[in-house]
Parts: sequence; C-alpha cells; structure tokens
Amino acid sequence: MNIWNRHFECMDRDELRIVQGERLRETVERVYFHVPFYRQKMQEKALGPENIQTLDDLSKLPFTTKSDLRDNYPFGLFASPMSEIVRLHASSGTTGKPTVVGYSRRDIATWSEVMARTLTSAGATRDDFIHIAFGYGLFTGGLGLHYGGEKIGASVIPVSGGNTKRQLQLMHDFGSTVLACTPSYALYLAEALEESGLKREELRLRVGVFGAEPWTENMRREIEEKLQIKAIDIYGLSEVIGPGVASECLSQKGLHINEDHFYPEIIDPETLEVLPPGNAGELVFTTITKEGLPLIRYRTRDLTHLNYEKCSCGRTFVRMEKCLGRSDDMLIIRGVNLFPSQVESVLLEMSEIKPYYQLIVDRVNNLDEIELKVEVEEQFFQDKIGQLMALRQKIQQNLESSLGLSIKITLVEPKTLERFDGKAKRVVDKRNF
Ligand SMILES: [Zn+2]
Repeated sequence: MNIWNRHFECMDRDELRIVQGERLRETVERVYFHVPFYRQKMQEKALGPENIQTLDDLSKLPFTTKSDLRDNYPFGLFASPMSEIVRLHASSGTTGKPTVVGYSRRDIATWSEVMARTLTSAGATRDDFIHIAFGYGLFTGGLGLHYGGEKIGASVIPVSGGNTKRQLQLMHDFGSTVLACTPSYALYLAEALEESGLKREELRLRVGVFGAEPWTENMRREIEEKLQIKAIDIYGLSEVIGPGVASECLSQKGLHINEDHFYPEIIDPETLEVLPPGNAGELVFTTITKEGLPLIRYRTRDLTHLNYEKCSCGRTFVRMEKCLGRSDDMLIIRGVNLFPSQVESVLLEMSEIKPYYQLIVDRVNNLDEIELKVEVEEQFFQDKIGQLMALRQKIQQNLESSLGLSIKITLVEPKTLERFDGKAKRVVDKRNF
C-alpha cells in the first residue's frame, strides 16, 4: 500500500507525542497573543501560555464550540491579519449566521498535504482520473479534494455537483477512476447509471472517497455492490480544515486521523470529562499547526471512539470509528435517543427496500410522533395489496426490535422521495421547542 508521507504517517508514537506537544505549545502561544477571545478565556482560568507545556496540560484549556464561531462572526477568531489570509470558506448554518473559516498560505499547503494523504490511502496515484462531484464554492468539499488530487499529480476533473446525466457521460468519456462525493450522491449516481443506457463495464471507476455526511456499513455495501468499487470513508469539518482530518486506508477498519496536525480527544458530552482510550464519546479537536483559524478543543458533536492499535497498513496514526451520528442529529422521540443512521442500517438489511427514506417528526397532542417514508421495489406496487401490508409490518417489526420505538411506516413508489446532490436531508422535524 502506498503511503504519502511515511515520516509522519508511520512515526513512532512516542516521537509523535513530542512533535504534538511542541506544536501545541506554539499554537497556544499564537492564540493567546493574537485572539482576544482565547486570551480572555484563558485569563478567566488563570492560565497563561507558560502553563501549557505538554499534551497533558491540554485538558486545562477551555473548549471551543460552533456558537463561539458564530458569536465572533465573521473573522473574530482569526489569528492572522487579513493580509495573510488567502482563502475564506463558510458553512451554511440552518439557523442564523454561517460559520466562516480562513486559511493562510501555509494552511492551504497543510490542507493539500492531508488531502494528498487521504487520496493516497484510498489507493489513488498520479495515474488516476479523479472525478470530484463534491460542490465547489464556499463548501470545503470540492476545493479540498481538488488541491489534494493535484498534489499527488492525478488528473483532476472538477465537475462539482448537479447534472447527473452529464456526470455519467464525463465519467465515461474521460475514464474517471476515482469518484469523490457524498455517499448519498454515489447511490444516486448508481441508480442513474442503471437508467442511462451506459454499462458499468464501460466505466473505469475503481474506488470512491465519500464523506460530508454520516453513513453506515450497510450503505457502504450497497454502494460497493451497485457501483462495483471500493468505498472509502473520509472525514473532516470546515472548522478544523475541511476534508482531510481523517480517512480510511484500504483495510477499511477505521479512519486514520492526521494527528500531526489535528490532536483528538474523546469527551463525555454531558460532564465534559476526557474519557480513557477506547471509550465512545464526543470527538474534540485541537488544531496544532493552523495559522489562520487555530481552534483549541473544538467540540465536533460527532460521536465515535478511538483505536490506538497498529493498523495493518503500517500507519501509526490513531483510527476513529466511522461516525454513527452527531449529537446534533440525535432525535429524542418520546424519551428514546435515535440517530437517523440507525434507521438506515435497519432498512438496508432488507432487500425489498431502496436506500431512500425520510423521517418526519411531529408533536401531536403533546406526544412525539414519528413517520418513516421509504421507497420500496416497484414490484410491490404491482402485486397484491396484501404483500405491501406484509412488508410494512415487517419493516415496523424490524425497526421496533432494534430501536425500541414504534414508527409509523408509509411505503412509497421508487423515485418519489427527493434526491440530493450534496448532503442528504433525511429528517424533517416539525416540532417546536
Ligand atoms: Zn490503516
């Protein structure tokens, strides 16, 4: 297996810890002297840069949250003067102001480096054609993959999102070998391919790098089967750098975190205590090399756990388990915690069902109600009505036994639910809190 940067990616862990400690010290100094927000927060805890000497001191520092970014909109948390910021990205918030991130020239180089690692760990080389169907623009997906693809010397095709028919045509004509997009769009492309008249054998596609939304192992199997590719999970968030924070290697057993740039902790989201290695909890990152927007103990809201065992690929970087959901996405239905990914996992176990669904949550007479709309294979609408009812009952039972929640099921015909070329919106929550 190819490794882009053996020096760091395979570094002895004791040596890595020394590098991380040095970089943390520099970062803390940087934010203390350049970001009033951090200086104030540290002073409130009677901390100065001299109190942070090693990684063991990290837990003394305050957390940063998404609302801290919003409160300091647009550039209040930047640690570089604007004359040194060469790029801005922003994520659209569902409510209120977007989150703005700024990159210095060195940050862009770091981002390209971690994306080169990501693509190399998925098996891509300079001989590949990388079809990027992530959106280009303020969203970090498109440009993140783009710079990484160019850095490894591959032929990059910046298709961006939308116009699925043309995507397939270009993939065919250019001989794309690597596909980069959201997992839900990969499935949509697979579906569109079946109808396009193009044959799978006519495509040269070999591997896909998918991210920007949580997806299950069952979804992976579905994509791998339908597109006949290897589906690799990549992880990132714009606040930390964009894609490139972590990515799977070809052994597909957890995502290696680029720890020489982003230092991970797992905390209990309620008590905020750091949990011992191996425990599941909320993922927190401290960026230790960023200049434009360094973040101290940034709470991602993503739930996962870390695996420090050595990987068969040779990399020594810690692996995070595929994210099952964000604590933000978690629905509480009549007191039961529910992630949309859990529903997805149950649905994809059933062959009669298409991987398209929507959850609608409402409150009727002070009681939470949840409805699942799901597409089923065409044949069920042609056959007797009894079959349709039996299928509905089967879905209901499967969901109830694995989630402990009774959900109203509505079966719909293929292609009636909305398709997304970016992040899929699976949940409509009509409750007013
Ligand atoms: Zn590995």
